[in-house]
Amino acid sequence: MQSSVSRRTFLQGMAAATALAHASGSLSAGGETQPPAREKLYVLRYSDVKLTGGPLRAQQERIHASYMGLDEDRMLKVYRQRAGLPAPGEDMGGWYDADGFGPGQVLGQIISGLSRFYCSTGAAATQGKVKRLVEGFAAAIDTDDYWYPSLKSSTSCAAYTLDKVLIGMLDAYRFAGVSAALDVARRCIKGSMRYLPPRAYERFEAPKQAYYDETYTLPENLFYTYETTQDPAYREIARHYLMDKTYFDPLSRGENVLPGLHAYSHVNALSSAARAYLVLGEAKYLQAVRTAWDIIEKTQTYASGGWAPNEEFVVPGKGLLGESLTTSHAHFETPCGAYAHFKLARYMLRITAEGSYGDGLERVLYNTILGIKDPQGDGHVFYYSDYHPSTQKVYHSDKWPCCSGTTPQVVADYSICAYFRSPDGIYVNLFTPSEMQCELQGVPLKLIQTTTYPEADSTELRVEVQAPTEFTLYVRIPGWLQSPARLAVNGKALSVEARPGSFAGIARRWQMNDTVQVQIPFSARLEAVDEQHPDTVALMWGPLMLVSLDQPLELPKKSLSPEQLRPAPYSALTFEVPRAASKLRFVPYYRVQEEVYTTYVRQV
Ligand SMILES: [Zn+2]
Repeated sequence: MQSSVSRRTFLQGMAAATALAHASGSLSAGGETQPPAREKLYVLRYSDVKLTGGPLRAQQERIHASYMGLDEDRMLKVYRQRAGLPAPGEDMGGWYDADGFGPGQVLGQIISGLSRFYCSTGAAATQGKVKRLVEGFAAAIDTDDYWYPSLKSSTSCAAYTLDKVLIGMLDAYRFAGVSAALDVARRCIKGSMRYLPPRAYERFEAPKQAYYDETYTLPENLFYTYETTQDPAYREIARHYLMDKTYFDPLSRGENVLPGLHAYSHVNALSSAARAYLVLGEAKYLQAVRTAWDIIEKTQTYASGGWAPNEEFVVPGKGLLGESLTTSHAHFETPCGAYAHFKLARYMLRITAEGSYGDGLERVLYNTILGIKDPQGDGHVFYYSDYHPSTQKVYHSDKWPCCSGTTPQVVADYSICAYFRSPDGIYVNLFTPSEMQCELQGVPLKLIQTTTYPEADSTELRVEVQAPTEFTLYVRIPGWLQSPARLAVNGKALSVEARPGSFAGIARRWQMNDTVQVQIPFSARLEAVDEQHPDTVALMWGPLMLVSLDQPLELPKKSLSPEQLRPAPYSALTFEVPRAASKLRFVPYYRVQEEVYTTYVRQV
């Protein structure tokens, strides 16, 4: 599997790895001022951003607490049983058990999510839990490095499970300071090699050993292993599993190969392409991601930003998204889909600094993942966003599905989606109460954001800097704006370019307590589900997808217009549309709890 590596490519790879490690915050900040060639923005450390209030932080706290409540013996049971160790505790049930659909699969993702929460909060109890889970997992690895929880796991989902365990061990090492976890990651890869197929297979490609396995998602975390260990062998294994022939090559030529593919895993695989571009520098991987992102936004996406009914990309131009509204209740695999969407948006922000990727991230944030029901703690989690008329939010019927693993990861990631660094300043991507800290030109700097967004359509950013410092503060100007954004510093209006879909840059010599006021006027608009159903529309308010709480929602043709929307006097973010005999109430999808709601209005 491992090919020999020339000295030249080895050195190139090492340089890229060093640059990446710096960019993503694992090396000490400060010192280096030149950006790595392939990146315009750096991702901050989880510990550099604190969410200080608002709905994003509230959800982070609930999800963090929920996963802290999980029983460690039960989580480790399948691994201990297979190793012949004492295995106290009840079975987890659902997908998790030795003969379940995905034995022990989400353990690695839960360790990853908790590691990120620890890095954000510094909570010692969270670090302790990560450490015990890693140690418990490591104790169940056989002397020949066999680590899978069951024979079924190693024969039917060898790659799928490895991918998830790897992210857990690498994140435990990097974000929770569990030094032993890196060696565990190495052992897991070693123990997996004899179960992985000789190349990346498509999900349903035949013949192959495992119908549902997803070898094509492996490279991202193998590149991550390479960056963390600096061992080029892992880079070569990663390169080996890049699914070039059937996926990245045609995408890089602009061909739409998405229809019919399993959606989440193939969007996740695009993160492998983005990381391949960063590590290997081959332009085709960047082009493949650009093409896929555009296809998904233009042909696969609902008003929420979620995509792909029944977990499958549709053939464009046939009105299949519109049809799906009444034939399915499975419109977006929400925690997994949002996790993959966020990752891809962050990679593309790093590489391009283009505001449209921040817009896409925000749309999915407010209209999908922020609106999930809280996990029940017994393995039942929210899975599908449902845009069927007159429906309710529900839990998945099986315990411990894939989405129970991505839920803590994606919610922890809100912090690192909010701000980015560039060589010349700071990028503000999300509008949410928060604080970020970094060092610019050797001067420690803090940015404090105060807002009630998305209840209000404005935010305020206050700079705390010990000495006057020149830098540029970039603020995302959303692409959905219908009237101009307004920016001011210390109350004085600015005339900087603020084109929707870009970042507006405010360059100046910043002093202690300089304050930026940002107004991004919300307005209502209608979005048709697809071109074939122009009269099936969702009502949008700024970044928010509104849903109706009144049934049924079939209205006379062209009777709904954005101008009719009125804020209700009795509750924030509740809107009314007057009708002849009554009113229709609309609220943001993320605010819906147990109510029956309808996302798309049909005007017939
Ligand atoms: Zn899932």
